[in-house]
Amino acid sequence: MPVTRLAPSPTGALHLGNARTFLINWLMARQNGWKIVLRIEDIDGPRIKNSADRLAIEDLRWLGIDWDEGPIYQTARADVYRQALDQLIAGGVAYPCVCSRKEIELAASAPHAEDGAAVYPGTCRGKFKSIAEATAFSGKPPAIRFQVPRGVVSFTDHVVGPQPYDVQKDLGDFVIAKADGTPAYQLAVVVDDAAMGVTHVVRGDDLLDSTPRQILLYRALGLEAMIPAYYHLPLVIGPDGRRLAKRHGDTRLATYRAAGMPADRLRAMIARWMGVNAGESISMAELLAAFKLENVPREKIVWSLSPEGRG
Ligand SMILES: [Zn+2]
Repeated sequence: MPVTRLAPSPTGALHLGNARTFLINWLMARQNGWKIVLRIEDIDGPRIKNSADRLAIEDLRWLGIDWDEGPIYQTARADVYRQALDQLIAGGVAYPCVCSRKEIELAASAPHAEDGAAVYPGTCRGKFKSIAEATAFSGKPPAIRFQVPRGVVSFTDHVVGPQPYDVQKDLGDFVIAKADGTPAYQLAVVVDDAAMGVTHVVRGDDLLDSTPRQILLYRALGLEAMIPAYYHLPLVIGPDGRRLAKRHGDTRLATYRAAGMPADRLRAMIARWMGVNAGESISMAELLAAFKLENVPREKIVWSLSPEGRG
């Protein structure tokens, strides 16, 4: 059975950009008969906000989005990630890294293209025979990196087309677990998607270059047959060309909700960014009938706050 997932990260409230991606994912699932799993990606320790998971769930429901399974919390699945990590270490494709904590924290969070993280130069590759040796060397537990092989990883994205990556040159060895044992975003996503039987991944194109990393993890874990179909959607950006965020004004769903805006009206605003001519308001049933993936604009959507406070 085809399966997709909605995977909010409770690092803050849902804004219009997230809402659009989730709504498109939901529409594709309901048009094509995919099962929807709701997964809360809450392992990113210091960035997780209290109650943001409950707020995200309320926001999704208010917008008219439902799901068939979940919520499943990543923080409840530490053992499963640990097993995968042990498998990679035992297989010789992961190694301890004792580089600075700040560098590792950044590398282990869900990446975003505009962060422009530098390619890790491979400082610790082959340096330590074991985790114990790395711990003795630096006096504290190491992070774990995945050792990226030579060559090109290619996949065909169903929105943006063929994507070849020279993985050593373009991406480099990446963090799969922090020093405290917390799995990094890339590892948790692959382990979960495989365990949940996810066949279709729909997400923002800021995660495009996570995909070759995730494909490498599927292969290294013996899960190649589980690699899903990918749909990376152009993001909503601010007038400054950066990913929609607080600096662009208050675009949180919860704010519109609290101000009494009907969901049908907010949905109409978002629908216009999906190539649906929605008028002033649109119901979920109408949107489901009108939405076509091929009509979704292939360029980024620029959000600007008009005097009436609408997009
Ligand atoms: Zn290192």
